[in-house]
Amino acid sequence: MLINGELVESESGNWLSSLNPANEEIIGRIPAASAADVQRAYLAAEAAQPAWAAMTPLARGGLLRKVAQAMRERGEEILHLEVIDTGNTISKMRGDIESAAKAMEFFSGLGSEIKGESVPVSADNLHVSIRDPYGVVGRIVPFNHPIKFASNAIAAPLMAGNTVLVKPPEQSPLSAGILAEICRDILPPGVVNILTGNGMPVGDAIVRHPGIKRIAFTGSVATGMAIQRAAAETSVKHISLELGGKNPLIAFPDMDPDKIAEVAVSAMNFAWQGQSCGSTSRLLLHESLYDAVLKRVVERVAALRLGDPLDPQSQMGPLNSKPHYDRVCGLVQSGITEKARLMIGGARPAGTQFEKGYWLLPTVFADVHRHMRIAQEEIFGPVLSVFKWRDEQEAIDLANSTDYGLTASIWTNDIKTALRVAKAVRSGYVWVNGASGHFYGTSFGGMKNSGLGREEGIDELLSYTELKSIHFRIS
Ligand code: NAP
Repeated sequence: MLINGELVESESGNWLSSLNPANEEIIGRIPAASAADVQRAYLAAEAAQPAWAAMTPLARGGLLRKVAQAMRERGEEILHLEVIDTGNTISKMRGDIESAAKAMEFFSGLGSEIKGESVPVSADNLHVSIRDPYGVVGRIVPFNHPIKFASNAIAAPLMAGNTVLVKPPEQSPLSAGILAEICRDILPPGVVNILTGNGMPVGDAIVRHPGIKRIAFTGSVATGMAIQRAAAETSVKHISLELGGKNPLIAFPDMDPDKIAEVAVSAMNFAWQGQSCGSTSRLLLHESLYDAVLKRVVERVAALRLGDPLDPQSQMGPLNSKPHYDRVCGLVQSGITEKARLMIGGARPAGTQFEKGYWLLPTVFADVHRHMRIAQEEIFGPVLSVFKWRDEQEAIDLANSTDYGLTASIWTNDIKTALRVAKAVRSGYVWVNGASGHFYGTSFGGMKNSGLGREEGIDELLSYTELKSIHFRIS
């Protein structure tokens, strides 16, 4: 762990093991932090914050770019750890290292955008606003893209003049150790503190700390709601939440079935076993496309190569942990019980190499109805649910028929249809004739239970500041 510029153990002396989900071998251990460690880290962050905020934005940005550079220099080492710790396939995970570095670089150039306004509302005063950092920010991140989210977690709050406590995921914590070394070598002590361990007690102690007024969380809806409750028990806090998704991909009749089948499979992110908040896990097909697309989707899914995540030829690895594997398998079983049509998958792959580890075949259910659990609950696994619709309103109703509202992907060449449907879907990030891509500078985030607040753009940077109005009497 990194506290006050030093790599330290937990005060309790306790450790946790991290497993390779492909074979269940122990590959590393991490300190199991306690509430006492959170307090240590908080005091370091609080002490470091005034000097950090007093640096010019150019100087802060320069240090963030050095962190980005160091992540690229140690990219292969991070990549290797990340792959064996998450089970995500190496060919696709390479992009996460680049994305982690890019997040730093993006925010490093935005320091001069942290500005206020002058507001001419009275002749006797000069009314201006300025933006203050919160002080110490707490950030808690999930298991699916650990280095990318840990890097994202520090970029914007640091640029806004805050210091940060980060809690990486307990199941895939190892790459955070390298980030800790990089931050120790480049940033002043206490500016970034990294605390490993379980959500309970570490995440909870961060959330409840009365001195930490700004919390940003990426993870499940259930934990997001628990965080809102816990935070409210100690003080008034500003909380942003990046939560789950049950995202629709809506295909209109003017589309080519081959193209839709191709994007439906690629946007499921099988390379990380569907464990992506933005995966389009609900495929909504017009009835005229239904049979043709379904057949092609099944053919493509059947051709996916499962194997060692370190092998560049592998296109899918294991699920991240045993509890998660059990949960995903339970949802697959619910699909069978509720009489969705299992087209492919739904079981452990055959072969000795898949006997250990959390392996599940990529799975497609057809004839899914909106009342089923596999239509409503985020599975966060390699399971695609396919629906049929007849007219545009039915497609929109289906798209909006869950409590989630993160992403949506709309496929049509009719511009008026695209505009109508893009406006009607209750999702925070909508692609027309696209899917999966993130574009730094445009704000990402969810509606409904998918979240609160926006990231990856200027809104995120400003969300780490508080507005203050000042009135100078001039007459
Ligand atoms: P999770 O179980 O909610 O855990 C996320 C993080 O919260 C972990 O670091 C976890 O620690 C910690 N935590 C658990 N209980 C806590 C508590 N009571 N107080 C404070 N922190 C606590 O989520 P996950 O299973 O890791 O990740 C999958 C979820 O993340 C999915 O729902 C996915 O859609 C969502 N996600 C959303 C986005 C987005 O941008 N919207 C991006 C990626 C993932 P431990 O794991 O160490 O216990």
